[in-house]
Amino acid sequence: MSVLVHLVGAGPGDPGLITRRGLDLLRRAQVVIYDRLVAPELLDEAPPDAERIFVGKQPGDRLMPQAQIDRTIVEHARRGARVVRLKGGDPFVFGRGADEAQALAAAGIPFEIVPGVTSAVAVPAYAGIPVTHSGLSSSFTVLTAHESADRPGTRERFKALATGAGTLVLLMGASTLRNVCKRLIDAGRDASEPAAVIEWGTTSQQRTVVGTLETIADLADRQGIHPPATTIVGPVTSLRDAVGWFESRPLFGRTVVVTRPPSEEDRLRQALAELGARVLHVPVIEIVDPPSFEMLDKSLIELPTFEWIAFSSPNAVRKVFERLTVIGRDARALGPLEVAAVGKATAEALARRGIVADVVPDHATGAAMTGALGTGTGRVLLPRPAGAPRELPDSLRALGWDVVEVAAYETRPVEAAPPHSDVVMSGDYDLVAFASPSAVDAFVQRFGSPSAAIACIGSTTAGAARDRGLTVDVTPEKHSADALAEAIAIYLRK
Ligand code: SAH
Repeated sequence: MSVLVHLVGAGPGDPGLITRRGLDLLRRAQVVIYDRLVAPELLDEAPPDAERIFVGKQPGDRLMPQAQIDRTIVEHARRGARVVRLKGGDPFVFGRGADEAQALAAAGIPFEIVPGVTSAVAVPAYAGIPVTHSGLSSSFTVLTAHESADRPGTRERFKALATGAGTLVLLMGASTLRNVCKRLIDAGRDASEPAAVIEWGTTSQQRTVVGTLETIADLADRQGIHPPATTIVGPVTSLRDAVGWFESRPLFGRTVVVTRPPSEEDRLRQALAELGARVLHVPVIEIVDPPSFEMLDKSLIELPTFEWIAFSSPNAVRKVFERLTVIGRDARALGPLEVAAVGKATAEALARRGIVADVVPDHATGAAMTGALGTGTGRVLLPRPAGAPRELPDSLRALGWDVVEVAAYETRPVEAAPPHSDVVMSGDYDLVAFASPSAVDAFVQRFGSPSAAIACIGSTTAGAARDRGLTVDVTPEKHSADALAEAIAIYLRK
């Protein structure tokens, strides 16, 4: 009997911290049953038609009793669905994963456990606090709220924790924390031992408050720390000053709105996240087919009559190759032509299809492109979005080229409100990034002029934004996602 249920650890919050095995299973799941602390980005990894069932518990508001969660898992498995039970951190660290495994075993349903990166270790690590250290601590103990309850043996357990245990990691809310800290001190643990509480660890909203065993509960209260929060107690806490790395990233604490449509090229979001930003993907436009591919197909059949083909975006590359397939050709059709690609991402999209661009101008401006092509009288094919700016074809024509523009795709404003619209409406972000004039238009139509800073990937987009009365704060030298992210970091640091 094949395994149908996978208890998968989703990691502590940063979606990059799921395991390869976990991600692989998630991408093939038919049913995903998930908790509150699972990163939303991970749910996007499941197939679009997978059923997503939320069984999370808000503190104080128990959404679904454990027995019912167990039943839900068993029922879906019984009807033959591939179930991923996605749990925060590691499934067997205080996640009731063991109860679920027992329920599956009792029901005779084969299952697999995919361990995860537990917040008990990862959250302190993102705050710059190692749970062990050669000179400072040779063990760590992870406790949860149950520890505070008056159960037989509580006094003895606290005595052991106070005098025998190394680093303590406490997975619990502020009220229990106060009680546990007091009991540890009463049982003999040094009240002045360094301690830190970390809220929403490993995410762009991470906050860390530092104090001592005696003061940490009060400090957490005063700073308004809410769940999820992890507390660490022990001398290792003081290593934070030297080892802290995450909260000191250039864009940490900043929120950047990215407006481009979902595509194979996700480098901008990735680059911003690596610089520490909270990235909100608010796709205001989508890529659709033009009313007809007739002109593009005709030009592709006539490719040998062209001297150059110039791609201005990864989308243009994708569409041209899709159409080549439709008309029964492949990459070899480009063989006799010179190939230009605007920007690194476009060149990479070509490289993935076996074509190394002859020139890669940094910008889609007439100046950059004509500098790359020089003068000539041959034919130049420009597969572009319908309605793209005139500057490029006009300046090539001025140099003598016979330019043929064909519609390869269209961008249009999305109909439904994109994700995070509420944040954008409230103006609660630091900067919005645009990668095309159509995104500028769609954004302004939907949300009005941005109140935050504005970044544009290149001079064409920046020009379009200025034409609409916006002030552009950031335009990188080079037309690339990395250059844009770097330029944003420099600007927001000021
Ligand atoms: N199985 C999970 C723990 C479940 S208990 C794991 O291995 O990580 C839930 C507790 O974990 C929360 O109350 C909080 O104390 C801690 N926690 C989970 N995610 C966290 C995060 N992003 N930041 C801080 N603490 C977190």
